[in-house]
Amino acid sequence: MIEIVAAFFCMYFNEVQKHHYEKVYVILEYGIIIQFLINTVLDMTGVADYYLTLSFSHAWSFAVILTAVVTMLRDLERGRIKNYKYIAIGAVMVVVSALVELISFYASVLGGFGMWLSLGLICLLLMTVVQAIRDTILAAAASEAKSRFLASMSHEIRTPINTVLGMDEMILRDTKEPQTRECAKDIYAAGNALLTIINDILDISKIESGKMEILSVEYSLKKMLVDTRNMMRDRASKKGLELVIEADEDLPSILLGDDIRIRQIIFNMMTNAIKYTDSGMVKLKISGRREGDKEILFVEVSDTGIGIRPEDMPKLFQEFERMDELRNRSVEGTGLGLNITHQLLKLMDSTLMAESIYGEGSRFYFELEQGIVSDTPLGDIDSELDEVVEQKDTAFTAEGTRILVVDDNEMNLKVVEGMLEPTKIHVVAVNSGKRAITQASYRHFDLILLDHMMPEMDGVETLHQLKKLSENEGFPCKDSPIYVLTANAMSGMKEKFLTEGFDGFISKPVSTAELFDAVLKVLPEDKITFC
Ligand code: ADP
Repeated sequence: MIEIVAAFFCMYFNEVQKHHYEKVYVILEYGIIIQFLINTVLDMTGVADYYLTLSFSHAWSFAVILTAVVTMLRDLERGRIKNYKYIAIGAVMVVVSALVELISFYASVLGGFGMWLSLGLICLLLMTVVQAIRDTILAAAASEAKSRFLASMSHEIRTPINTVLGMDEMILRDTKEPQTRECAKDIYAAGNALLTIINDILDISKIESGKMEILSVEYSLKKMLVDTRNMMRDRASKKGLELVIEADEDLPSILLGDDIRIRQIIFNMMTNAIKYTDSGMVKLKISGRREGDKEILFVEVSDTGIGIRPEDMPKLFQEFERMDELRNRSVEGTGLGLNITHQLLKLMDSTLMAESIYGEGSRFYFELEQGIVSDTPLGDIDSELDEVVEQKDTAFTAEGTRILVVDDNEMNLKVVEGMLEPTKIHVVAVNSGKRAITQASYRHFDLILLDHMMPEMDGVETLHQLKKLSENEGFPCKDSPIYVLTANAMSGMKEKFLTEGFDGFISKPVSTAELFDAVLKVLPEDKITFC
């Protein structure tokens, strides 16, 4: 073993030094092993025992020592040694111990056959552990820095996109001029596409850094299906595709699970089905079976689209992989959607399955365990669909009411002011928590909309101060509902904000529909006039 230990050392050091000196190490490895085989044959045939041939193996070991020293000195000169500093210290110890071993063997001093070399190898082992710990810590810090960078970058990019989309919505509302409307619609589509990419990148970085949390909240399955239908209807009809949503009427209507992530998964599967289908049909099918007190949902999205080649199937869920690039070059995409879907399902203990026949269509499906909150059957969702759509178009005025909007970004203030303009509500806009408190101490507001991320005093801090002031009898906004405006649309955030004391939550980019929903919920009924 001692005779061939130098060969293992060569293999290891070749890896550590990143194959920069591969040739010389390979020659040494072969030399040592061939020498060992010759020595063994000589010993076994009784020509010469190991003891007599040991000097040849020692010569090879000496060559290894020399090579290790020379290559480390070269790496020191080129600055490469810092990548394996601790292993290099361990290797120096091995070199010294091997030299002591050789000297003690030939000079018959110090004794201990193999003891010195073993000591050196133990030192190397310890230093390797130190190096591994250091590398792991550095890698963790680098990954942490990367995800922090990505998170703040996407927040910074999202803010101006939100403004663009908000302003664009106002143009669409106010202008009748067809050419301007067309341009505004294009801006809206492009802005939303950009927002999707930013959100995808943020999701990937969260998943990779292990920060993606899956939460359980109560949600309405019916609302989820209705929303999916409303979102997909336009996309499908633009391409002349039939959109079918088939839901088992006996499914429980209220479930417990991470609705935002499930929506995201279904959204990804449906947009892909529409994107990669030129004619025919796109279908979402949901059924389920009861297991104890849980419902196992079966979700399937199928299409009659272009399909996926069998050889591409194994790459389907990989990051940034897009199949059939030539055929799909005109279809927008980053190759992130399916990877995110696959990883999110993994986090929920499920697996995304895919089947496809090239040229005929694809089928993506998964099973998912959800808690049951209400057993009331889902019923026929088709009857619900148009009701909800109609609600969104409702226009109203609320003269004599007052809303306070607080956001450090002036553009965002303009967007909310613009959206509320036709309602005749008196809007007071301020750009800091401090100013919000001054306003609220001075007069009554029917609703306060507070941005979450603000310098100095953020939304939560401002809320706490307002709540404290509400304890005083004469405070004019004692009972005013306070809603948070936030771009942090992560699952569970809503619950967190509600436990902080907010009365509601409006996600950014603020849409007219969501803003009106909130306003209609809290303003005094007698002041609202529907047009
Ligand atoms: P992309 O942003 O490119 O759509 P995805 O990760 O969502 O990224 O999908 C990866 C690739 O898988 C796509 O580029 C496409 O080639 C293929 N693909 C996904 N869904 C379908 C589908 N329903 N039909 C055909 N091909 C699909």
